[in-house]
Amino acid sequence: MKCSRCNIEAVYEAKYSGEMLCGKHLEESVEKRIKKEIREQVQFQEGGTRIAVAISGGKDSSVTLYALNSIFKDRKDVQISAFTIDEGIKGYRDSGLENSATLCMELGIPHSVISFSDMFETTMDQVVKDKPDVIPCSRCGPMRRQLMNIESSNLNADYVALGINLDDYSQSILMNVARGDVDRMARMAPHHSKKDGLTRRILPLRRIPEKEVVLYALLKGIKFDSSWCPYYAKAQRNTFREILETLEERTPGASFSILRFADGIRPALEYAIGPANVNRCKICGQPTSREICTTCSAS
Ligand code: SF4
Ligand code: ZN
Repeated sequence: MKCSRCNIEAVYEAKYSGEMLCGKHLEESVEKRIKKEIREQVQFQEGGTRIAVAISGGKDSSVTLYALNSIFKDRKDVQISAFTIDEGIKGYRDSGLENSATLCMELGIPHSVISFSDMFETTMDQVVKDKPDVIPCSRCGPMRRQLMNIESSNLNADYVALGINLDDYSQSILMNVARGDVDRMARMAPHHSKKDGLTRRILPLRRIPEKEVVLYALLKGIKFDSSWCPYYAKAQRNTFREILETLEERTPGASFSILRFADGIRPALEYAIGPANVNRCKICGQPTSREICTTCSAS
């Protein structure tokens, strides 16, 4: 099959648009959507804008860093840095860390590492060992978010960029719907306004399906770590991943529609719910919507 935009052999069929794409046109299409997302999500500051990329070494965050670097490398008013969170998961995180450090070195981007063991005096391996009945991601997620916030504020970042692709994003929307969690739905990244003590999260890949992220990385020669977290199998997200895969197979473009729907109702949700309450946790002092943050109340 030939590319719909030129006469070269296609490498990919975008079922949601009916287009066949060659390598060059797939790259163009991916980059165009990333640039559009950045224009919509980032308000550039007069005195310069700092973006910290949370990089795990996997395909999504590696592509995010690579793309942001290509877009901004010639702009003096935008500074990119990167950091990796080390959750303390033997075998898995080590290879991701190595990959992140190598990519940052190749791109000339400053890279730092912040670990659960330094900040919380524990590791995810220890948490799972101590409490085998707990779903690991429900403990890991809040701790990661806390570290992400601490490190992006250490780096003085205006934004923290996450490698969340379209599949992840539409799964999160469906999860919020299934849980009836209207508050969380209204607070989902990308964040357009700044809240005290919280760095705004941006998601440059939220319109790029996972398959396209992988192909883009391969076409551009971006090395990524493809190992999976050993605790992922227990994640509730897996059910939603399967539902979305079935939906996408039967109705190509369903993930884009779910994203459009969430964006469409967002202003009404924000208006109805009002600004989120940001308190300081009475134990650790980190920003939280409760009196005691999730991490402190679980430990
Ligand atoms: Fe943490 Fe779950 Fe991600 Fe593993 S899959 S790193 S446990 S959030
Ligand atoms: Zn083409």
